[in-house]
Amino acid sequence: KKVAHWFRPKDLRIHDNTALHHASTLAQESNSPLICIYQHCPAEESWHGTSPARTDFMLEALRLMRDELQKLNIPLVFLSCEERDGIVPCVMEFLKKEGVSHVSANFEYEVDELRRDTKFVQESGDEIVVSLHHDQTVVEPGTMMTGGGTPMKVFTPYHRAWLSLIKEKPEMLDTSPAPSKNSNKAKKELSHLFNSEVPKPGKDKLFSKEEDRTRIRSLWPAGHDAAKKRLRHFVEEKLDDYAATRSNPAKDSTSRLSAYFSSGQLSIREALSGIKKANKGSADFSEKGAAPGIYSWVREIVFRELYRQTTVATPHTSMNLPTNLKFDFVQWEDDKEGWEKWIGGTTGEPFIDAGMRQLHAEGYMHNRLRMNVSSYLYCNLLLDFRRGERYFAETLIDWDLSNNTQGWEPSYTVFNPVSQAEKNDPEGEYIRKWVPELKDVQGKAVFAPHARLGKKEFEKLGYPKPHVDWKETKQRAVERFKSDMKDT
Ligand code: FAD
Repeated sequence: KKVAHWFRPKDLRIHDNTALHHASTLAQESNSPLICIYQHCPAEESWHGTSPARTDFMLEALRLMRDELQKLNIPLVFLSCEERDGIVPCVMEFLKKEGVSHVSANFEYEVDELRRDTKFVQESGDEIVVSLHHDQTVVEPGTMMTGGGTPMKVFTPYHRAWLSLIKEKPEMLDTSPAPSKNSNKAKKELSHLFNSEVPKPGKDKLFSKEEDRTRIRSLWPAGHDAAKKRLRHFVEEKLDDYAATRSNPAKDSTSRLSAYFSSGQLSIREALSGIKKANKGSADFSEKGAAPGIYSWVREIVFRELYRQTTVATPHTSMNLPTNLKFDFVQWEDDKEGWEKWIGGTTGEPFIDAGMRQLHAEGYMHNRLRMNVSSYLYCNLLLDFRRGERYFAETLIDWDLSNNTQGWEPSYTVFNPVSQAEKNDPEGEYIRKWVPELKDVQGKAVFAPHARLGKKEFEKLGYPKPHVDWKETKQRAVERFKSDMKDT
């Protein structure tokens, strides 16, 4: 009999991979060979809107993992099917053909993925034992409860409870080792599985220009080693100043680890173990127990943990609906020109345009800008927030359903891109970097050139005037939300 681990798009690593470690232990104990599989389905990627950058990043990570596993005499087999409903039959056929008796995988918490796994468990019957593991978070989603016995949804109490649990049980941050080596005998037995080729990206997942691929690859080198290096650099060079500088996009002072977390190339436990070391070995990440940078960074990780709990507690959020269902009743506009300008970074609001241009150049956008461009889209342009959410999926390298849907959750707060820029990019450096038309604009005019420069001076820039009036459209959004949501 044989043991298998089924990799999913969120656990692309062999270090500290909960299900893989379980499979490896089982294989060792029962003296059985271990096989790894990955199911590639272009239709699944298109369904989620996965960007070319993310597809390339993940396939590159898989190539590196295949080589690492090969050194351990473990094959990584790529299975392929065209349609989403072919995934379970395809995996099942392979497992049966190979005589696999046990298969392990890590949970994915979205509704379709849970349905796939339910079907998988049902179809495995008595022949194959399936074990599913929680791996994406330190605290299992759905387990942090309110006094009333329902999963917590509010950040502050969740954060408080999370911090005291980890302080009490620091072993929750312990990591597990990479899988043990298959014996030479097992390698021989599995020899027909070692020539599996990493799949090619679907046609709609190719970069439109080769130079885009080169640039994205140099910004986001794939693999666990690259992720560890980035974590080390962050801890040594940026962590101390994180609390003070994290909101300033010009400083680039955040970890840029999101793409590695969302595809699982780095485990959250491994990252927090690194932070614990920087915290003199203490797992007390509270305001009192940790330096401001550490406290503040771990707080962001706790947002990530809560958002996975939200996906579990409010499953409709992975079915294209907002957490607050009232927002589904808002009558959205169809401002075609506004949409094109938002995408193109030519809205005439420098902070918004800078953010969108960073997104296209890097497959990434600073968090402060994500907050601003989303608010501008569904409040000032009054376009359906789901269009922006989908556009992020199609362009970001770090797309993550839980973080993205929660980031795009509509609210009544309308961000003012001028005062936001003045506060968070006080020197205007970020704007000048990404909007070259404004690179020579001096002083505060850079935040609102149309309003703050003379007519002639503005016209010379070749930069558009604002597509909408911010004040008027703020008012329109607040009134629309109020009237469309009042009877729901
Ligand atoms: P750091 O500041 O170094 O933070 C460390 C880690 O904490 C991040 O890697 C991330 O995993 C987590 N984190 C940080 N900020 C948040 C947050 N606001 N919510 C949840 N987790 C957070 N994040 C994604 O990973 N994928 C997405 O698709 C995504 N879409 C977003 C859409 C919108 C509209 C908004 C407002 C936010 C979105 N975020 C998303 C959250 C956040 O912007 C990114 O995680 C962050 O910018 C990544 O940069 P970093 O790794 O340098 O973060």
